Amino acid sequence: MQTMYVLIHKLAFPSISNLCVEHAAAKLGTRGSGLCKKCLTDVEISSPIQKRTAKLISKYEKQIEELTSQCNIKSDECSMAWSLVESTNQELDRLKMELHQKLVQTDNFEQVLDTQTDQLRKVSQNYENDKKLWAAAISNLERKIKAMKQEQALLSLEAHDCAHAIPDLSKMIEAVRALVAQCDDLKMKYHEEMAKRKKLHNIVQETKGNIRVFCRCRPLSKVETSSGYKCVVDFDGANDGDIGIINGGTAKKTFKFDRVYTPKDDQAEVYADASPLVTSVLDGYNVCIFAYGQTGTGKTFTMEGTERNRGVNYRTLEELFKIAEERKDTVTYNISVSVLEVYNEQIRDLLATSPSSKKLEIKQAGEGSHHVPGIVEAKVEDINEVWDVLQTGSNSRAVGSNNVNEHSSRSHCMLCIMVRAKNLINGDCTRSKLWLVDLAGSERLAKTDAQGDRLKEAQNINRSLSALGDVISALASRSSHIPYRNSKLTHLLQDSLGGDSKALMFVQISPSDNDASETLSSLNFASRVRGIELGPAKKQVDTAELQKVKQMLERSKQEAKLKEESLRKLEENCQNLESKAKGKEQLYKNLQDKVKELESQLDSKTHSQITSEKQQSQLSGKLKEKEEACTALQHKVT
Ligand code: ADP
Ligand code: MG
Repeated sequence: MQTMYVLIHKLAFPSISNLCVEHAAAKLGTRGSGLCKKCLTDVEISSPIQKRTAKLISKYEKQIEELTSQCNIKSDECSMAWSLVESTNQELDRLKMELHQKLVQTDNFEQVLDTQTDQLRKVSQNYENDKKLWAAAISNLERKIKAMKQEQALLSLEAHDCAHAIPDLSKMIEAVRALVAQCDDLKMKYHEEMAKRKKLHNIVQETKGNIRVFCRCRPLSKVETSSGYKCVVDFDGANDGDIGIINGGTAKKTFKFDRVYTPKDDQAEVYADASPLVTSVLDGYNVCIFAYGQTGTGKTFTMEGTERNRGVNYRTLEELFKIAEERKDTVTYNISVSVLEVYNEQIRDLLATSPSSKKLEIKQAGEGSHHVPGIVEAKVEDINEVWDVLQTGSNSRAVGSNNVNEHSSRSHCMLCIMVRAKNLINGDCTRSKLWLVDLAGSERLAKTDAQGDRLKEAQNINRSLSALGDVISALASRSSHIPYRNSKLTHLLQDSLGGDSKALMFVQISPSDNDASETLSSLNFASRVRGIELGPAKKQVDTAELQKVKQMLERSKQEAKLKEESLRKLEENCQNLESKAKGKEQLYKNLQDKVKELESQLDSKTHSQITSEKQQSQLSGKLKEKEEACTALQHKVT
C-alpha cells in the first residue's frame, strides 16, 4: 500500500536533472529565453538543438502533462479503487462475521435438528411400536367384537326363545293361579273339616261327661325286678290311648283312655296334658284332678312328686302364677290354698298349726257353693311360698303314723286352690276352685285282714271311691240325681264336680304281674268313670264318624301338600327362568358396554395416531426448511 502511495506521488511531481520538467522544457524552448511557467524561473534558449530539445521538452511536457493528468486520473482511480478495496474489505469482514454467526447458528440448528431428528426417530419408533400394538389390539378387538357378535346373536336367539316361551310361562302362571285357588279352596275345606272335627270332639267330650281319664303306668321297681316279677302291660297302642293287660294264659284285655303314659313318660309330659284343664281355673271354671289306683302305683308321685321331680300340684301353682303375672294388666288374681285329708270320713286340716278338737264340717255357703268353716286358707303370693305350704301339708299327713305310706294310702289327700279373679276391664269377679286329690289306695282288702280298724278304713275308702265313681257316672249319664252326699270326698267336691266343671283322673297302675288283678280292677273302675258304659254302639258311631273325618282330613292334607309341592316347583322354575333371562340381559349389557369402551379406545388411538402423523410431517417440513437455509448459507460462504 505504501509503495503504491509513493508511486502515485512521483507521478504527481515528475523531475529531470533535479529540475522540474516544466522548467526544463522552458530552458530548452525555441525562443531565446523564457520563464518557466511552473516554477517561474527565467530560462534561456540558445541553439536548434536546444530548440529541438525545447520542442521535445514541450512535447514531453505535454506528454508529461497528459501523463500527469492521466496519472492524476489513475491515482484518483487508484484512490477510488483503494477506498473500494477498503470498503470491500470491510464488507468482507462483515460477511465473515455474518458467516461465522451463520455457521454458529447452523451448528445450533444442526444440534436442534439432531435432537429433533432423534425425537422424531423416537416418535416414529414409538409410533411404529404403538402402531404394532394398536394393530394387535385392533385385531384382538375385532376378534372380541366378532365373538361378542356371535354371543349377541345367540342371546337374541335365546331372547327369541324366551319370548316364545312367554305364552308357556303365562300358561304356567295360569296353572299356578289355578293351583293356588285350588289350594285356597282346600285350605278352606281343611279349616271347615277342622272346625267340624273340633265340634265332634267337643260332642265326644261332652258325651264322656266332660271327664278325661289318663292312665299312667309306673316302671317296675327294683324290688319287683329282683323278685322276678314280669310286666303285664302292653303299650303298643299307647299313642292311640290303648293299653293292654296280658295276664298269664288269659287273653289280652284292652282298655281305652284319653291318654296313656308309659313308664318312660316324665312328669313334665304328664303335666303338659293336664295344663289346659288346670289353668281353666283362672277363667272361672271349677276343676277336679284325681289320682286313682292301688297303693304303690305312683299317685303321690304324680300329684306331689319329689323336690327334683315335681308333680302336678307344684307345676299347677307354678303355671297359675305365671299366667296371673302375664295377665296382671287386665285381671288381678288372689290365690289361696287349703290342704285337707279325709280319713275315715273325717276331714283334717293339714295346714292347721294346732290340732283342733272341733270336727270340721261341710257347709253350703251359697248357691252351689260349699265351704268348710274354720279351715286354713293360706294365701300364696308367689311360687316360692308354695313348696313350703305343700310340704307342711304333706308332713302333717304323716303325724300320728309310724309308716307314712301306710297312713297316706288310707286317706284322701286334697289340695284345694281357690282363685278369686277381678277383671280390671269389665269389673267381673269370679271365684273358682281347683281340687287336686291324691286318693286313698284302691286295693281291696284281703279277707284275712278284714277286721278292726283296717276293716273300717277299708270300708270307708271303698265307700268313698264307689261314691266318687257313682257321682261321675251319674254326671256322665246326665242323671237328675247326683249322689254327692254319699261320702265326705264327693260332698267336699260337690261344687267342683259336674255342671260347668271339668275333671281329670289319672288312673295309676303297676306293670307287675303280681298286681295284675288290682290293675284290672282299677282299669275297670276307670272305664266306668270314662263312660264306656254309655254303650258301645254310640261309641262306635262316634269313632266311625271321627275316623271318617280323620281320613278326610288326612286326604285333604295330603292333597294340599302335593299341590303346595307342585306350586313350589313351578314357582322355582319361574324364578330360575327369570334369573336366567336377567343374567343373559346383564351379560349382553356388559358386552355392549365393553364394545363401546373398546370403540372409544380405538377412536382415541386413531386420533392420537393422526396427531402424531401431523407432528411428524410438521417436523419433516421444519427439517427441510433448516436444511435449505443451511445449504443457502453454505453457498453464500463459498
Ligand atoms: P302311691 O302314692 O300310689 O302309693 P307312690 O307315689 O308313693 O305311690 O309311688 C310308689 C313308688 O313308686 C315311689 O317310690 C315312687 O317314687 C315310685 N314311682 C311311682 N311312679 C313312678 C314313675 N312314674 N316313675 C318312677 N318312679 C315312680
Ligand atoms: Mg301315696
